[in-house]
Amino acid sequence: MLTFCAEWQDKREQLEYEIDGVVVKVDDFRLQQELGVTAKFPRWAIAYKYPARRATTVVRSIVVQVGRTGRLTPVANLDPVLLAGSTVSRATLHNEEEVARKDVRVGDTVVIEKGGDVIPKVVEVVPDRRPAAAVPWEAPRSCPACGAAVSRAEGEVDRRCPNASCPAQAVERLRHYAARNAMDIEGLGDVLARELVERRLVRDFADLYALRFEDLAPLFAPKAKKGESLGARNLLDQIAASKTRELRRLIFGLGIRFVGERAATLLARHFHGLAALARASVEEIDALYEIGPVVAQSVHEWFAQEANLRLVDRLGAAGVRLAEESAASTPQPFVGMQFVLTGGLDSMSREEAKAAIELRGGRVTSAVTKKTSVVVVGKDPGSKHDKAVALGVRCIDEAAFRALLAES
Ligand SMILES: [Zn+2]
Repeated sequence: MLTFCAEWQDKREQLEYEIDGVVVKVDDFRLQQELGVTAKFPRWAIAYKYPARRATTVVRSIVVQVGRTGRLTPVANLDPVLLAGSTVSRATLHNEEEVARKDVRVGDTVVIEKGGDVIPKVVEVVPDRRPAAAVPWEAPRSCPACGAAVSRAEGEVDRRCPNASCPAQAVERLRHYAARNAMDIEGLGDVLARELVERRLVRDFADLYALRFEDLAPLFAPKAKKGESLGARNLLDQIAASKTRELRRLIFGLGIRFVGERAATLLARHFHGLAALARASVEEIDALYEIGPVVAQSVHEWFAQEANLRLVDRLGAAGVRLAEESAASTPQPFVGMQFVLTGGLDSMSREEAKAAIELRGGRVTSAVTKKTSVVVVGKDPGSKHDKAVALGVRCIDEAAFRALLAES
């Protein structure tokens, strides 16, 4: 077995696809049964992982990227090098402390690695190959996008750009707002978000709703073959459609620090609208089940900013739905129930199924445990189904799920 594993570590170079290891299984069914399964894994199979692929290259520059919340992340631009089937020319350095700890300098020869993650990282510097003139890297004192002086909060490793109207942050916030799990504006991706901000068509996401066909057509013109800017029309339709998205999507889309999808859903369910959420005290938000003090503080601070309140007002003026009917009119029969979805459903997407469950007060989790109330089993279910059977959790098919939704 070990010889086999070692053999394929060399032979994998000749494969036309990437592998990261070998799975060794007991092939005797009787033995498999006897060995059984733990809570997570079968005892009769194990993965033998090969070391992450590494390559050596030279750091040409270190630049700083500005994220949605203003966080500055140093990134190394590299001499392009082939690594695990793709050409790599950038690698993350995570944060300033990491750069200092590894002492990565421009001109250094570095070892980079691509493990399970998509983004390669710098592992270490090859000290012998450091050019004599290389100097330690210093983090910029000002934001590379807007020039504002950057600050570092006590106890945090990251520096941030504090400028609320920083264009780099605006691009990231726009992308977040339009993302599939937020306001789901199809077609508003990375490139377009940047273009909209660079051309000063959009400063924040409320500006999206003021865009006209004439504004957008030039952005699509080079791509449209038949002289028709279908792309621009489509995007306008998508933007218009986002006005009636569920409140939880809007709250998530606002990009409030620490407010993920789950917290956004809980806040939407409790407050039913941005006006009530804006009025809520830290204590009131903190008192919500599953919402912690950090989230509560962050939400409160966000709504305490005059600029953010104006943003919300402009969203409302543009026709974006800021409130949902209170749950008093919607009974919540699934309160306290945990659902797991596995396999595909014919009549609805996974997102829709999740929304239907949450609307009724239930919660959707990814793993089947003893606490799971119901597993909805669609087409080609995965191992979650087996797990549910093993744990004796109630499993229902799509028809039964639809019936359950209908009766509740
Ligand atoms: Zn900035």
